[in-house]
Amino acid sequence: MKPGYQQTINEALKHWHSSEKGLSPDDIRTLQKQYGKNELQTPEQKSRLTIFIQQFKDVMILILMGAAAISFIAGETTDGYVILVIILGNALIGYFQEYNAEKALRKLQQMSAQTTVVIRDNQHIPIDAAELVPGDIVVLEAGNIIPADGRLLTVSALKTEEATLTGESASVEKKTTPIQEDKILPADQRNMVFKSTIVSNGSGTMLVTATGMATEIGRIATLLEAEPEKTPLQKRLQTFSRQLVVVVLLLCIAFFGYGLYRNEPSLTLFLTALSLAVAALPEALPAVITIALAQGASRMVKHNALIRKLPAVETLGAITYICSDKTGTLTLNKMTVEKVVPAEGKDNLLLHALLLNNEVRFNADNVLLGDSTEVALARYALQHGLTRDEALTRHPITDILPFDSNRMRMATLHPYDTKFILLVKGAPVKIAETLSPLYSDTKEALLQQNRTWAREGLRVLFYAYTILDTKPESLTEALESNLDFLGMAGLIDPPREEVIAAITQCKTAGIKPVMITGDQPLTALAIAERLQIIAPGDGTALTGADIMELTDIQLREKVKSVSVYARVSPEQKLKIVRALQQEGQLVAMTGDGVNDAPSLQQANIGVAMGITGSDVAKEAAHMILLDDNFATIVKAIKEGRHIYDTIKKFILYVLSCNLGELLVIFFAPLLGFAVPLLPIHILWINLVTDGLPGIALTAEPTEKNIMQKPPRPPKENLFAGGLLPRILLTGILMAIAAFVLQYIAVSKGYPILLQQTMIFTLLCLIQLGNALSVRSLDKSVLSVSLFRNPLLLGVIVVTIGLQFLLVYVPFLQPIFKTTALPLEALRDTVIVAITCFIAIEMGKWVTVRLRA
Ligand code: ATP
Repeated sequence: MKPGYQQTINEALKHWHSSEKGLSPDDIRTLQKQYGKNELQTPEQKSRLTIFIQQFKDVMILILMGAAAISFIAGETTDGYVILVIILGNALIGYFQEYNAEKALRKLQQMSAQTTVVIRDNQHIPIDAAELVPGDIVVLEAGNIIPADGRLLTVSALKTEEATLTGESASVEKKTTPIQEDKILPADQRNMVFKSTIVSNGSGTMLVTATGMATEIGRIATLLEAEPEKTPLQKRLQTFSRQLVVVVLLLCIAFFGYGLYRNEPSLTLFLTALSLAVAALPEALPAVITIALAQGASRMVKHNALIRKLPAVETLGAITYICSDKTGTLTLNKMTVEKVVPAEGKDNLLLHALLLNNEVRFNADNVLLGDSTEVALARYALQHGLTRDEALTRHPITDILPFDSNRMRMATLHPYDTKFILLVKGAPVKIAETLSPLYSDTKEALLQQNRTWAREGLRVLFYAYTILDTKPESLTEALESNLDFLGMAGLIDPPREEVIAAITQCKTAGIKPVMITGDQPLTALAIAERLQIIAPGDGTALTGADIMELTDIQLREKVKSVSVYARVSPEQKLKIVRALQQEGQLVAMTGDGVNDAPSLQQANIGVAMGITGSDVAKEAAHMILLDDNFATIVKAIKEGRHIYDTIKKFILYVLSCNLGELLVIFFAPLLGFAVPLLPIHILWINLVTDGLPGIALTAEPTEKNIMQKPPRPPKENLFAGGLLPRILLTGILMAIAAFVLQYIAVSKGYPILLQQTMIFTLLCLIQLGNALSVRSLDKSVLSVSLFRNPLLLGVIVVTIGLQFLLVYVPFLQPIFKTTALPLEALRDTVIVAITCFIAIEMGKWVTVRLRA
């Protein structure tokens, strides 16, 4: 059998039992069974069991297991069992959270799966690329990631970039003719295309010859361990945790040594030292952050923002600039033709050009598919008396020079009586450049007309043509010269209503919205005014040509103040992003085309369009807008800020609680008190009293003023924004409260067990108060209604309930080493707890004022 590249198109079609009309549903079912899914193998997803087992790899849990073992050996079986139950409970909570996060992320991945257009049963249909089978006919266009290996059937100016496969970054021009040589490498198989490479230019169709692991890329693909990328915050926390472990271990050793010196029983001392470590280390922190990010990502998808890279959730909250394409994102992408003016006597030819000079496809129900500008133009021609069949019979499209955003025009070739006609349309200035010298006098008037339309916010296209005696070998740019003017069309694309509100919101949130468009400056400014990106009459637009004149330094100066860019090419978008970033800005940039990938990658948040975006743009993006809507970016930023705030609240809560416990245990002996908390109390406080409210805090709703604050500084330190003083202050206040209570208890002559039960209860109450207090980072606890977070409310009730059970139920008392609190002791405890809570709130008030 000949390899695919040696076969003619007919041989290839026959070989795969297919035809230009594609496969039939029956074929497909059998083939799918035979060849399986068109997927590259990925590393196994974590199973439930792995997730569960992983919970036990935590250092903390290992310490606890050690503690349990020692308790059993020393005959303290009750302690041993209780510790085991606590370990299990902790692992279960961790498991459920991680499992849910994992599930949410997997769902997000599935949502960003690639789709591809196939011809089956003579119909163009979009399908999931994983469903492709050998024999399928796939339609390729610029920006596609090629979904399988295939033999090309038709090409028009098709070029691919095969760096993923061959390492060669230059694009390869493709053809359809068979190649005679033998044993040639994929890089030289010019009539074949390969999975995972990119269509950088033109269009074509291919016959699928290999899918999944049978493709060239499948053969060389090594399984990459998809280790999720860590966010800056996670990395900083990791370093912080490592440093903390060292400090805490040293403290534990010191504590143990000092206890031995005081002649305390060594087993209790040892267990207390271990529980001190448990109390001081914020073990839940990294997991909770991943979970908060994953939950945030699932909430965002409900608002149509699909996160592809988890760190984006965190970055979103710090965005200072949103650079957005106009068409489809700021506007509806519902182009309609407002005006058409033909050149004299060219009415009919212009109508034909409107209908034929494009890459619009008709589906089975005669619905027009394709670029919205082109669809609008073709529809206009149909509404004005042309039929597609008639036009195509008289002037079939024999060749296409596709639209390209640098050239800003496209050309089609058609038979014209015995000759050929080249129809060209494009941006007015670009077409004016191609007109014959005969137009040197009238050109300016035409461009003037264009400007008048543009000022009304219209997208203007010029049409031109030339008659050729013979059919050119291939269409090249050189043919687009010496043309005759054919007419002009003006289209309107109404702004999206909701965008105006979103833009106002950006402004109050300290985020600058910037419009970037391929349209001409006057059109761009007219639309920018309507969207309130600029005030009426006050704007100038920076054009691509201007940008080329500027040095990098000058551009950096400019970018800060410019709100509208016009006639900008994808390469210039990259320059704009870089310049803004050098100015210390965090930039979200939208894009849809294949050439947008570099700027999407460079941006802090690359945003691809879900509906109109190319595969390549989606692949490069951090986030995909499922509805292509600018307002969705703003919603995602709001959610991003909310998540960052939540994480900050959680860090504040956990670290201040831990510090409080640490100080109490560490300093009580130094102050001459009896051991204030037993190991079992410490474990309970740490895992239940701290743990449950901590989880509930991640369900905290958005604070109302979140979009009225400026973005957080991009390089903000983990403990910035007054977090560190708050942690220290809260921790110290907690410790002081405990010492005061113990002092009261001692002076009233209470036995040690009662003292301990009081401190145990006190810390439980204060932690819950602290959970309430951190709900707002800068406002008083009274300003946030408790009913906005029912989970936290529930947790508080349950935790207080449990605490009372531990203290008052007789059979639990020996297990948890408590004793019933007499009324007076309970009263003292509650009074000290409330005083401490008020002090924490006042501390918040003071730190916020000091920073302002
Ligand atoms: P925006 O940047 O606002 O999203 P866009 O991405 O559609 O707009 P380009 O596609 O770069 O911008 O188009 C640039 C210019 O090229 C348009 O202003 C128009 O004049 C011209 N143009 C757009 N589409 C076509 C087409 N299909 N054929 C010919 N010319 C076109």
